[in-house]
Amino acid sequence: MKKLQKTFRDIKYKVRGKKYKIPPYSYTHLCEELSRINDVESICFMKHYKNSKHQKRRVIIRHDVDMDPWTSLEMAKIEQKYGLVATYFILHSAKYYKNKFDETIEISKIIQSLGHEIGLHNDLLTDYFKNGYQPDENLHNILTSLRDNGIKIYGSAAHGSKIIQNLNKELPKEIYYTNYLIFDEIYKKNLSLNPAFSKLPSPNYNNLSLNLPFLSMKNFNLSYETYFVETDHYISDSRRRFWYTGNDPIETIRSSKLGETTQLLFHPVWWKLDLE
Ligand SMILES: [Zn+2]
Repeated sequence: MKKLQKTFRDIKYKVRGKKYKIPPYSYTHLCEELSRINDVESICFMKHYKNSKHQKRRVIIRHDVDMDPWTSLEMAKIEQKYGLVATYFILHSAKYYKNKFDETIEISKIIQSLGHEIGLHNDLLTDYFKNGYQPDENLHNILTSLRDNGIKIYGSAAHGSKIIQNLNKELPKEIYYTNYLIFDEIYKKNLSLNPAFSKLPSPNYNNLSLNLPFLSMKNFNLSYETYFVETDHYISDSRRRFWYTGNDPIETIRSSKLGETTQLLFHPVWWKLDLE
């Protein structure tokens, strides 16, 4: 069975072409190695945000769930087996969120019960320009439906979508739209001092326009945005590259100093065929 799966994996990657890379090891191997590192401390985003001072080799595992809550669940089980915790950012604009909402809640509940945190994968700009959803009403509805179902949401991570990429084509290189620009606090605290962002350009798309920033995180009881939570090392598998940002996570954390924090961003879909 194992061999069959491997062959299927090899064929699939081959068909898809060279730019689709295979993870350097299975997710189980990665978790096992991380759990063996001396003085390692695995923690969810909210706990780190509340208290960033520590004396360990701290790891914050972040998953941008994107289109794959099912692989996310499998990863959550593997992490729990090795005593690791992670934060899973659920994408409200994904098809599963709308069409399989009950299943999404069920999966999120199990992930949460395994000791992990659930966060919001913010795609409010896309929802506005594509579907005409007003960001304030939309965010209120999303958070209410999650929280009323027992899913605790403390923070968000901005998602990059095709529409946003298209919007960015119209802007000078040093300015770019991302979903977190919707939040007042992010703009004021982190960007307004940057001359390129002294005035935010208001995006126009599909005959719709929006004045940014538009919402306050505080009004929605959101505490953090992952891109502005400071860490010492940041490693990501974005664009299916291992590693798109940073170097090998096992080596990085092993050689990190006590008191340092590493953020690991993994997209479950890239690991789907390499869990075991
Ligand atoms: Zn994403």
